[in-house]
Amino acid sequence: MTDKKLQVIPLGGLGEFGMNCLALRYGDDIIVIDAGMMFPEEDLLGVDIVTPDFAYLEENKQHVRALLLTHGHEDHIGATPFLLSEVSAPVYGTPFTLALVERRLKEHELEDVNVSLNPVKPGEIIEIGPFKVEFIHVTHSIVSAVALAITTPLGVLIHTGDFKVDPTPTDNLLFDLHTFAEYGKRGVLLLLSDSTNVDRPGYTQSERAVRPRFEDIFTRAQGKIVITCFSSSVHRLQQILDLAAESGRKVAFVGRSMLSVTEIAHSQGLLEIRDGILLRTQDIMAIPPEKVVVVASGTQGEPMSAMARIAVDDHKNVYLEKGDTVVLSSRIIPGNEKAIYRMINHISRRGADVIYGNMDPPVHVSGHASSGELKLVLNLVRPRYFVPIHGEYRQLSKHAALAGQMAHLGIEETFILETGQVLEIDHRGARRGDDVPVGRLCIDSGTVDEVVEDLVIRDRRHLSEDGFIVPIVAINRLTGKSEGAPEIVSRGFVSEDGSDLLRRAARVVAETIERASPEERSDAGVIQEKIRRDLKRFINKEASRRPLILPVILEV
Ligand SMILES: [Zn+2]
Repeated sequence: MTDKKLQVIPLGGLGEFGMNCLALRYGDDIIVIDAGMMFPEEDLLGVDIVTPDFAYLEENKQHVRALLLTHGHEDHIGATPFLLSEVSAPVYGTPFTLALVERRLKEHELEDVNVSLNPVKPGEIIEIGPFKVEFIHVTHSIVSAVALAITTPLGVLIHTGDFKVDPTPTDNLLFDLHTFAEYGKRGVLLLLSDSTNVDRPGYTQSERAVRPRFEDIFTRAQGKIVITCFSSSVHRLQQILDLAAESGRKVAFVGRSMLSVTEIAHSQGLLEIRDGILLRTQDIMAIPPEKVVVVASGTQGEPMSAMARIAVDDHKNVYLEKGDTVVLSSRIIPGNEKAIYRMINHISRRGADVIYGNMDPPVHVSGHASSGELKLVLNLVRPRYFVPIHGEYRQLSKHAALAGQMAHLGIEETFILETGQVLEIDHRGARRGDDVPVGRLCIDSGTVDEVVEDLVIRDRRHLSEDGFIVPIVAINRLTGKSEGAPEIVSRGFVSEDGSDLLRRAARVVAETIERASPEERSDAGVIQEKIRRDLKRFINKEASRRPLILPVILEV
């Protein structure tokens, strides 16, 4: 019998959407499960990404033994570069997940930092200090997703990661219900389970359910088919590639993430690309439109993404015209509604037919379990304690209530924890412990040539050292032209010859507006982002400063 306690320490993703991260501590050994990011909402314009505050792990960095990754979605791996730049620990995950992490590390120029990436296959068991971790295959909207069964001296914990129970996955790799049941039979101390879709009744549709809708689209489309979906939706991309081959169309992947992720998936044998089916971006307009499928990144209307550029006719190799069909095969991430609907407006203006939203058969299916599947997992695992994870408070409490309705499970207690609230378990049982410090860090990823030291720019440092700049631009709603010269307001932004620099900065803003198309100028989101990027590059080059830049567009 041990008198050490086990602590479950949520550092992100509980009681909030995204940036999933959870630490487990037994004595002096800590393992971390996932290090995700959150996409900033519109009111956080001026930063590129939001990550958990890893203060707890930084304070305890000598105890951190490993980072375990459940799958390659950004809300599970996106903060990995920032965590690893502060805390060095070996990383474990499936080869596909690790390849996506490696790509992120390279983008942040961290590939030379001593990071050890250790590929693990489902079914494999690894030992890390007092923890024995088994990776269990689950089905999700990304390939190579796993749940974790973690054996500790006090009992077994199961962390589901993100999952749905897809009975007919496109790669025929089934959710490993068997292993879940095995652990359940032997006794599970604590279950941590995905709550994202707890408010949906029944079962989430199989990935294969989108096939009839796509068949219909491929049959009817007269011109080009332009599809946007998550670049990591390898199952979806495979179905698109298959249908393109069957209907005699060639496929062009467009956008940085689409190109690199499909290349990774293909090199790992997870995406089958038939000979001769790919079309280079620069050849898209050279062949008849009815022979083309463009698959573009930018499902969320991100202003600089391939899809958003195509929508405003600002893409070098793709333009839309009457007869083309655009398919948004993805969900709307909460907070992105405005940007996405703006993009759909632009596409419609070009005369293309846009297919998006809820329909039957669906053009998109979720990767998260509905309440039926969540009950199935609870029934298989039959844990002593239960903690719902991944979701806002409403989702966590609904998942807790769902478990509460299943009296036959004999769950001793369910804890609704929010980020920072610790659960402690010892040989007497589980109870709430003391909170740990948590928070959100806003990170401005800057230009590509930035150095590692500049990587983690906390908003505090931003404001105290580099200040902020607010370019104010008035745009005439009718003419789409700017009214008068842009004004620049700044605070705490010091340089040797500040006023001259700001005058030149105003000119940079004016040029950005001039270069933009009337359509871009009429879209506050797009023009704000363009101004921010250009100004950031200019200030960084001229003054080596990284002020927070918050463009304000006044429509007059
Ligand atoms: Zn996911």
